[in-house]
Amino acid sequence: MKKLALHWQILIGMSTGILFGIILLNTAWGSEEIIVRTIKEQIMLDYSIADGEVITNHEVKPAITITTTKAAEFVSNWVEPFGTMFVNLLKLIAVPLILASLIKGISDLKDIAKFRRMGIRTILIYIGTTIIAITLGLVLVNLLNPGAGISEETIANLSATYEGNSGITSKLETAALQKDAGPLQAVIDMVPDNAVAAMSNNSLMLQVIFFAIFLGISMLLIGEKAALPLKNFFDSLNDVVLKMVDLIMLTAPFAVFALLATVVVTADDPEVLLALLYYAGTVVLGLILMIVIYCLIFWLYVKKSPLWFLNKIAPAQLLAFSTSSSAATLPVTMERVEEHMGVEKEVSSFVLPVGATINMDGTSLYQAVAAVFVCQALGIELALTAQLTIVLTALLASIGSAAVPGAGMVMLVIVLESISFPSELLPVALALIFAVDRPLDMLRTTVNVTGDATVASIVAKSLGKFGEPKVDNWDDNLKDVTS
Ligand code: ASP
Repeated sequence: MKKLALHWQILIGMSTGILFGIILLNTAWGSEEIIVRTIKEQIMLDYSIADGEVITNHEVKPAITITTTKAAEFVSNWVEPFGTMFVNLLKLIAVPLILASLIKGISDLKDIAKFRRMGIRTILIYIGTTIIAITLGLVLVNLLNPGAGISEETIANLSATYEGNSGITSKLETAALQKDAGPLQAVIDMVPDNAVAAMSNNSLMLQVIFFAIFLGISMLLIGEKAALPLKNFFDSLNDVVLKMVDLIMLTAPFAVFALLATVVVTADDPEVLLALLYYAGTVVLGLILMIVIYCLIFWLYVKKSPLWFLNKIAPAQLLAFSTSSSAATLPVTMERVEEHMGVEKEVSSFVLPVGATINMDGTSLYQAVAAVFVCQALGIELALTAQLTIVLTALLASIGSAAVPGAGMVMLVIVLESISFPSELLPVALALIFAVDRPLDMLRTTVNVTGDATVASIVAKSLGKFGEPKVDNWDDNLKDVTS
C-alpha cells in the first residue's frame, strides 16, 4: 500500500487534535470549571506628603479567582506533554544542524567571493520581502479600517478581561528591556564571547551562525588537506542530524494532534474572538496575499510550479502553524528545502538559519496591521510620517523578534512606541489584540517559514545552485543494522 504523504498525515493529526479539543470542551465533564488558584484581596498602601502632612492612600484590589476547565486540565496533564517533547526534540537538534550544515556548506565552497555575494543577496532580498509585507499590511489596514468597527464597550470589556493578565505584563516588561538597548546592541549581540555558551542557548542562533561562518572560512584558508579531518567530521555530523530530523518527523502527526488539542482547549472565549474578527480577517488576508506573492515570485523567477513548491514545503508550513515557532521548525525547513526541493546545502545552510532569525514577513505584516488597528480603535490619528515610521520600525522589529511563540507582540510595543503611542494606553492596546494573538501567531509563523524557503530558492537559482531533489528516508540503511 502506498504510504500517505507526510503533509496529509500531519493534516489528519491536526484536524483530529482540533476535533478532540472541541468535543472534550463540549462534554459535561470537560466543560466543568475548576479553580486553579485564588489570589486574596490586596490592600495597596501608598504614602505621599502634602503641606507637610503624610497622606495615606489605599487602594483595594479585589480577590481574583483563576479558573480553568476540566478539559484544559486533562489536556495539560496528559496530551500537551507529547507536543512539548516533540518541540523540544526539534529545538535539540537546531544548533548541531546549523553548525554542521553551515560549516560543511562553507568549507565546500571553492571561492569565498561567492559566499560574500550570497550573503549580500540574501540580506537584500530579505529586506525587500519584509518591506513588501509591511506595505501590504499598511495598505490593507488603511483600506479596510478594521478599528472603526470596535465599539467603546468592546474596548472596555477587553481591557477589563485582560487587566493585569500575566501574558500582557510580561510582554510589556520584555519590550521595556529591549528598548533600553544602545543602537549597535543588535550587532554586538551577534558576536559571541564564548562559543560553548552560544551553543547552549537556542535564542543565540545568530551567534552560532557567526561562529560557524568564522570557523568555515578559516577552514577554507588553511587549505583543503589540513581541513579535511574537520570537514569529514562535520559532513558526518550533518548527515546524522538530518537522519534525526527524519526520525523525529515520524512522530509529527501525533505531536501536532497534541499541540492543536492544547491550543483549542486553552483558547479564549469564542465571543471575544468574534469581536476581533474584522481585525483578524485583515491580518489573515494580508498573510494569504503574502503566500500568493511568494508563489508568484517562485513561479516567475525559479520557473517551477508554485504547487510543486507548496507541496514540497507543506510539512514545514504545517509544523510552523502547529508550533508557532520558526526556530523549532528550522530543522524541518532545512530538510525540505535541501532534500525535497534540491536547493544546495551551501545556500540553504546559510539562508535558512539566518532567515529563521531575521526574516519574518508574516510578523512584520501583523505588526503593521496591529499598530494601525489599535490606533484606529482608540481614535488616535496617524499621519503619513507615522505610517512611514511603522515601515522602518516594523522592519527592525521583525529582525529583532525572536523566532518563538508570541515574540511578534513584544516587538509590536516597540513599533507603537516609535509612533509616540501614549505609554499609559499600551496595556489597553495589547488587551485589544491579545485574544486572537495565538491563532494569528500560528499563521504568521507559517508565512515566516514560507518566506525563508522562497528566498532560499531565489538565492539558489541566482547562483546556479538549484539542483535536483534527493530524498533520504529514515529507513534507507535499516536492514544493515537489523537482522
Ligand atoms: N512566532 C513567530 C515565529 O517564530 C514570531 C512572532 O511573530 O511572534 O516566527
